[in-house]
Amino acid sequence: MKDLQNLVRPNIWSLKPYSCARNEFSGRKATAYLDANENPYNPPINRYPDPLQRELKKRIAVVKGVPEECIFLGNGSDEAIDLVYRVFCRPGVDNVVAMAPTYGMYEVCADINDVAYRKVLLDDDFRLDADRMLAAVDDCTKVIWICSPNNPTGNDIPRRTIDTIIRGFDGIVVLDEAYSDFSQLEAFRRHVEAYPNLIVLNTMSKAWASASLRLGMAFASPAIIELFNKVKYPYNINLLAQQRALEMLSDPLKVERWVAQIKQERAHMVPAIAELPICRHIYPTAANFILVKVTDADAIYQYLVERGIIVRNRNRVELCEGCLRITIGTPAENNELLSALRQYR
Ligand SMILES: *Cc1c(COP(=O)(O)O)cnc(C)c1O
Repeated sequence: MKDLQNLVRPNIWSLKPYSCARNEFSGRKATAYLDANENPYNPPINRYPDPLQRELKKRIAVVKGVPEECIFLGNGSDEAIDLVYRVFCRPGVDNVVAMAPTYGMYEVCADINDVAYRKVLLDDDFRLDADRMLAAVDDCTKVIWICSPNNPTGNDIPRRTIDTIIRGFDGIVVLDEAYSDFSQLEAFRRHVEAYPNLIVLNTMSKAWASASLRLGMAFASPAIIELFNKVKYPYNINLLAQQRALEMLSDPLKVERWVAQIKQERAHMVPAIAELPICRHIYPTAANFILVKVTDADAIYQYLVERGIIVRNRNRVELCEGCLRITIGTPAENNELLSALRQYR
């Protein structure tokens, strides 16, 4: 890996961050908080929240098996994705390399930040070729994006492929594990300490059933986490989200039961969809959704909308032509979908 200083934008490396009231005083309990121009009435939301979410990170460290100082919390993973560009990529100069097709936000954030986005297409079975990824890199490539299990294709990227890319690249590798709870493969996040150039993304939005809290996680070396903390908005996670997330984390067994139920439903849906007359091909999935190539994606999508069933039409995504992406729902929702599709003529 290059020196971190050579990877970070010079203005960010030398940035003196905003110092908020809750940062300057973070000692023990005080009797009078007169430092932040808050209203003394209406507790608890009258006070600014902890800018570094220390209590929440303590819990996440235990549940996720990652040291506290290796954790960044963002307003959804989307904040962490945007911060990767703002910390590492000089607008109009640097570029990133990403597998394709994949999650759309990597490219949107590249466009917003005026950073060139180089796509390396997966093969017809959505396999990722590490050598082709590494061959797309040049001197101005700061970041490589990998998503596993991948969205919208659903497949795992093998550990060996990811390892080859991390070891073969001297910049930052971001590995998005938003769906790793649904996969049989071991998650990479426990190994961020072994890879100084790796950032792993997790989210409360999928397995943790809390999409509306907007809580995403980035796991990386303490040096990278410090850079994220320097650039983020001071109070990026509001108090109510921090409190509710703590409640969710106090019952990890509930999440395990949901994940088990969704995996069981997935095992039931895969053969049921494969038998439908509209099914041309069903792709293997390690996530909580199934990518299906159908006889007429636009027409079937519209037919389902008219019956109040919404799936994701991926017909216009490269390599996903003719495909719908179907999220695993409750047994009742899944059966409603299957019976609608059986009746499709
Ligand atoms: C859903 C999803 C996320 C989650 O984003 P949040 O902003 O945390 O809700 C992240 N990455 C991928 C690949 C996803 O599909």
